[in-house]
Amino acid sequence: MINDPAEPNSPEPNSPEPNRPEPDANPSRSNVLGAADEGFVRRVAQLIRDAHHVVVLTGAGLSTESGIRDFRGPDGVWTKDPDAEKYSDIRYYAADPEIRKKAWRHRYDGTFTSAQPNTGHRALSRLATAGHLATLITQNIDGLHQAAGYPAANIVEIHGTVQRFTCLSCGNGGPIQRVIDRLDSGEDDPPCLRCGGILKSATISFGQSLNAEDLERSHRAAQRCDLFLALGTSLTVYPVAALPEIAVRSGAKLVVANGERTAYDSAADEVSHARLGPLLSAIASAVLGDADGVSHGREELSVRPGS
Ligand SMILES: [Zn+2]
Repeated sequence: MINDPAEPNSPEPNSPEPNRPEPDANPSRSNVLGAADEGFVRRVAQLIRDAHHVVVLTGAGLSTESGIRDFRGPDGVWTKDPDAEKYSDIRYYAADPEIRKKAWRHRYDGTFTSAQPNTGHRALSRLATAGHLATLITQNIDGLHQAAGYPAANIVEIHGTVQRFTCLSCGNGGPIQRVIDRLDSGEDDPPCLRCGGILKSATISFGQSLNAEDLERSHRAAQRCDLFLALGTSLTVYPVAALPEIAVRSGAKLVVANGERTAYDSAADEVSHARLGPLLSAIASAVLGDADGVSHGREELSVRPGS
């Protein structure tokens, strides 16, 4: 289950769920939670209340409701570009300035800088600031958990972030806006201002290893938790996809919520394929016993009559 040779250790994190259908493309999945979802919400809220150490893993499915586009799907931004694979491969990126120019143009076309956290991000932040969630491991590179107010010290961005840049030679880094400003002023492949080296977004590309410290932190979190929530991830990208198994082997309960089935559905204590925003909003309100989720979108909490 945890060894899938078809999956490289780190695919381009801009498409953490390659070739997966866009969850929002399913018209049957609306903002209205059904009766089955209501039961899920009630039971998961109880699990969260009973747990002492809850660890969360999030993937692309959480950010689609913020309009973060699928890069490799049928309508993916990169699918139509013959150089697409090269942007996400460090060997091409490091060797070819034309690839870097295109990568900067494509990656910073406004998608990430304009995206806002959705109700799912906000629900997790509410639970975390109330002390119910500990470490959050995310495969997403968009920085939306931080933007939603999840305590930054508790976030592990296992595939890096587009919100920062790094120099491939000297490791110099900083907020991505500094590079965007240089792109806006006409540079197309801005070199490192400290050493002249190649700059890149601080994401993990093909050919790059995951950050060992981040991976170790994730493993430790999975081992010590008593409840593991896997949200919006198809759990096919290793080694991150092994985390739920580590948690379960350590005695934790497992909750899976994702638009499509995952390999862990049968191993999970609770499973839902409903839309994450409304689902997490309802869970947060159930745990916290407040009306915040209602005030942020009444329709999200309503239950379809007779369903
Ligand atoms: Zn440098």
